Amino acid sequence: MTARILVVDDIEANVRLLAAKLTSEYYEVVTASDGPTALAVAAAEHPDIVLLDVMMPGMDGFEVCRRLKDDPVTRHIPVVLVTALDGRSDRIAGLEAGADEFLTKPIDDVMLFSRVRSLTRLKTVIDELRQREASGRRIGVIAGAAARLAGSGGRIVICDDHERQAQRIASELAVEHRPVIESDPEKALLTARGPVDLLIVNANARTFDGLRLAAQMRSDEATRHLPILAVIDPDERPKMVKALEIGINDVLPRPIDPQELAARARTQIKRKRYTDFLRKNLDHSLELAVTDQLTGLHNRRYMTGQLSALVARATRGGEPVGALLIDIDHFKKINDSFGHDVGDEVLQEFAVRLASNVRAVDLPCRYGGEEFVVIMPDTPLSAAERIAERIRLHVAGSPFRVAAGKELLSVTISIGVAAADAPDDTPETLLKRADAAVYEAKSQGRNKVISRAA
Ligand code: GH3
Ligand code: MG
Ligand code: MG
Repeated sequence: MTARILVVDDIEANVRLLAAKLTSEYYEVVTASDGPTALAVAAAEHPDIVLLDVMMPGMDGFEVCRRLKDDPVTRHIPVVLVTALDGRSDRIAGLEAGADEFLTKPIDDVMLFSRVRSLTRLKTVIDELRQREASGRRIGVIAGAAARLAGSGGRIVICDDHERQAQRIASELAVEHRPVIESDPEKALLTARGPVDLLIVNANARTFDGLRLAAQMRSDEATRHLPILAVIDPDERPKMVKALEIGINDVLPRPIDPQELAARARTQIKRKRYTDFLRKNLDHSLELAVTDQLTGLHNRRYMTGQLSALVARATRGGEPVGALLIDIDHFKKINDSFGHDVGDEVLQEFAVRLASNVRAVDLPCRYGGEEFVVIMPDTPLSAAERIAERIRLHVAGSPFRVAAGKELLSVTISIGVAAADAPDDTPETLLKRADAAVYEAKSQGRNKVISRAA
């Protein structure tokens, strides 16, 4: 997986060195030698990652990072701060500024590439979610924008068999989060399947393999997106690289610095809430786009989309597609006598009866108002008629209980049946025949099934 990387450093030689390393691994590199240029390039070139030197004259790396994270256009781009070797205070200031990762100078190639790879993966996920959210917004089903998400109040699981260390981490985090300690990795796996925002795992535990636990979390659907912070001895470089490779989000070196712990936890939690937000919006928008809100059936838009493909297949010699158009009889009277809310309840109860009388492959839809359509793949006209009759009986056969059980209403329906089996059929001709059949059912006294052949 390749990526476009923006390298920012005021020293020309540093830029060239990093650019050469990255280019040799087939990354695309863009560069900037000061803060304002970096901001302009980031906004114009949409890099996937920014490698940002801290020490620069004029606008320093912290300020650049803050501005990148303040701008909605660049906020989602991961920023790696390049700090001095023992840059503890730099790291904390960087995390406060919103940095995602750190590399110390002189830059170690192995750490550089494993960080870049892990951030590229993250960026890919975020990009995909953002893109899908944007298309949801275009079709008008997503309201509102991402709120400013907090990085506090997180539910954190600490999986560690080193009791004192776990206690220290927990009491530090308890200032702004809700940490729980779990010394048994099996139990941690279970807990993490619930509502949890972050897992902190000791990769140097004596009684279990912390990285194995992390890998298990990654392969489980329920915990796949949970951020994981691994506590690792800084001398164990291969372990660090391995950790990032299996998808750990961040590494916390020992001995643990409380401020750094707090800042890294906050960063991970904030990021998780952002991706959760995008994901939830997406699920919601997909659902809104295809579902009728009152009845939970498919909506007309969804039905129309599916129908054209099915009819096209039927007219190319495939199996016929059956269609029912159902209209509730004298529905206006129900509204007029009992109120609109009771009318809504009738529609909901009808939807339940309808859905329970068709197969899983059929598409029961609310077509609009008190009209419904059922599309039935592989169903000739005669079979469609039988199903229509069954639905009619199931509705007329027992009254609808509405208004909190206070009213029992007799409801009937009229059904028009058609099937796409002619070579020149289209969704329109199919539904037109069904509509003409409903009209006939109404004029013959309602509570009837009428079918119309091509
Ligand atoms: P017919 O037997 O000829 O079909 O008579 P009808 O009264 O059912 O038909 P008409 O089309 O005259 O009236 C349908 C009514 O359905 C009118 C409209 O106010 C009502 N309606 C449409 N959508 C909804 C809804 O979502 N909820 C409720 N409660 N009523 C709705
Ligand atoms: Mg009507
Ligand atoms: Mg009606």
